[in-house]
Amino acid sequence: MTATGNNTIELKLADAAAPVTGSLASAVSEVAAKSASESKKTPVPASAGTAKTNIFDFDRTSLERFFEEDLGEKKFRAHQVMKWIHHRYVTDFAEMTDLGKVLRAKLEERAVVHAPQLIFDKASTDGTHKWLLGMDPKNAIETVYIPDKGRGTLCVSSQVGCALNCTFCSTATQGFNRNLSTAEIIGQVWIAARHLGNVPHQQRKLTNVVMMGMGEPLANFDNVVRAMSIMRDDLGYGLANKRVTLSTAGMVPMIDRLAAESDVSLAVSLHAPTDELRSELVPLNKKYPIAELMDACVRYALRKKGESVTFEYTLMKGVNDQPQHARELVRLMREFDRRVQMKDAAKVNLIPFNPFPGTRFERPDDEVIRGFQKLLNNAGMIAPVRRTRGDDIDAACGQLKGQVMDRTRRQAEFRKRLSAQEAGDAAA
Ligand code: SAH
Repeated sequence: MTATGNNTIELKLADAAAPVTGSLASAVSEVAAKSASESKKTPVPASAGTAKTNIFDFDRTSLERFFEEDLGEKKFRAHQVMKWIHHRYVTDFAEMTDLGKVLRAKLEERAVVHAPQLIFDKASTDGTHKWLLGMDPKNAIETVYIPDKGRGTLCVSSQVGCALNCTFCSTATQGFNRNLSTAEIIGQVWIAARHLGNVPHQQRKLTNVVMMGMGEPLANFDNVVRAMSIMRDDLGYGLANKRVTLSTAGMVPMIDRLAAESDVSLAVSLHAPTDELRSELVPLNKKYPIAELMDACVRYALRKKGESVTFEYTLMKGVNDQPQHARELVRLMREFDRRVQMKDAAKVNLIPFNPFPGTRFERPDDEVIRGFQKLLNNAGMIAPVRRTRGDDIDAACGQLKGQVMDRTRRQAEFRKRLSAQEAGDAAA
């Protein structure tokens, strides 16, 4: 995950690769059993395919419509409900005391406020906190909170797994199952905010959200945009637009759609300055090569005065960490600044690669990382290197675990490769 402006963040769920452990698997099946028995009394949200509507699926506009068109109520009632949920963390309509009995009964009959299931959470000594959340009986994802001087950043997932198959990303080894609903995305924020005692506009523990967890957020456009609108709404979490960052591997047409339909900070996973290398690391580059990607980033930045774009660059030993790569990167970033007509319109975030079992990539030595950074700095570019945080609770990059019921067979292929590799190592 990355940063907006100078905000550098260190964790990332995209690394959530690690094979499912025994304890995680049993924790997930326990939740499965629990939610199966609970579902007898507690209705499951509409997003999970049942009759009742989950209020978490609505942003302000769609909730107003639900109140007016489906319930025959005034708009301001929707606003009251949003405040109960996102400001006071109340999910039981009976406790929403300013609504009136009749409306409360109507809501109970038609709707639920259903958050993801907390499987466990863990605190790090450095203040980092992570939650393992069950999205359905077979799938779980992690959400991580990283406090830093004067700000608190939440790293949020958008899909169960990821279909993009970037070669150095651990999420790719888990394969892909499905998109998260709006409720499942904003539910991650709700659970973290409630835990932190966040009071929007007053006691702000949560100041930034980065869509840098599992998944490609632009491949789940509508649900992500709706969830981000709740994050930025005063009736939701009241975050400033630039404090909500969407990170993409480079889905060009969707970057343009984002520019038209939402207003958030954009981060792009670049990782290589040439098409040849980038296509190896991010296969999506074959469809949308660097020139097209940069054009879309320029259009995104130009839509608003003073807008910058963050380019994430994961440093991998001997792959993209050489001086010539730094020089090519400088050229690309300078060209971006020139086209946007703003100094530092392109911000680079350097992420030392986080190894995970079975990967062929390695993290460069510290002096190589520093040398790479220096070349960028000498060219006048801001390029912070992300620190590792939360590693005592396995929350640092490459240490997070999710559970993905894979529909792409990638998990099985990866495990096969991994055990062949282990067998080879043992024989050697
Ligand atoms: N799909 C989106 C969101 C993922 S964000 C995207 O590609 O931007 C997670 C960031 O961490 C991305 O920049 C991703 O490329 C990077 N990343 C993935 N695996 C990593 C690893 N093992 N070490 C360091 N960074 C990694």
